[in-house]
This record gives sequence, C-alpha cells and structure tokens, in this order.
Amino acid sequence: TYVVNEKCIKCKYTDCVEVCPVDCFYEGENMLVIHPDECIDCGVCEPECPADAIKPDTEPGMERWLELNRQYADNW
Ligand code: SF4
Repeated sequence: TYVVNEKCIKCKYTDCVEVCPVDCFYEGENMLVIHPDECIDCGVCEPECPADAIKPDTEPGMERWLELNRQYADNW
C-alpha cells in the first residue's frame, strides 16, 4: 500500500485525490491519508503529490505513518 507522511500537513493540493482510481484518500486531522486496505498499489498518486508526501509503506520510516493512515481512514 501507499502511505501519506508528515509532508502532507498543511498541503492544500488534492491532486492525489483526483487521480486515485479507487477513491481511497480520506481526510485526517490535518492531512490526507490513504486507506491501506483500499489502496490497490497502482502508484499513480506518488508523482502527482507536489509535497512528495506519498511513499510505499515498504520505505524506511513509513511504519508509523502506515498506522496513522489506517487510524484516520478508519475513523472517517
Ligand atoms: Fe490510490 Fe493508487 Fe495512490 Fe493507492 S497508489 S492511494 S490506489 S492512486
């Protein structure tokens, strides 16, 4: 799955939301998040993000962001 990290905070762009084919972006407290169970790993959103805030969950340091993405997406 792809995951949104802290670089999204206060970002006002929603290019990622527009390109996602399965609409799995949700609004978290102060950032957007991706629902890990809904993301189909297509990767389309990653280059669209002007803040470079979207990464695969396999990248180092993304584990805690994966948890936060899940938490915010579930509570939407
Ligand atoms: Fe949506 Fe694809 Fe990005 Fe997953 S990788 S959030 S399915 S655009």
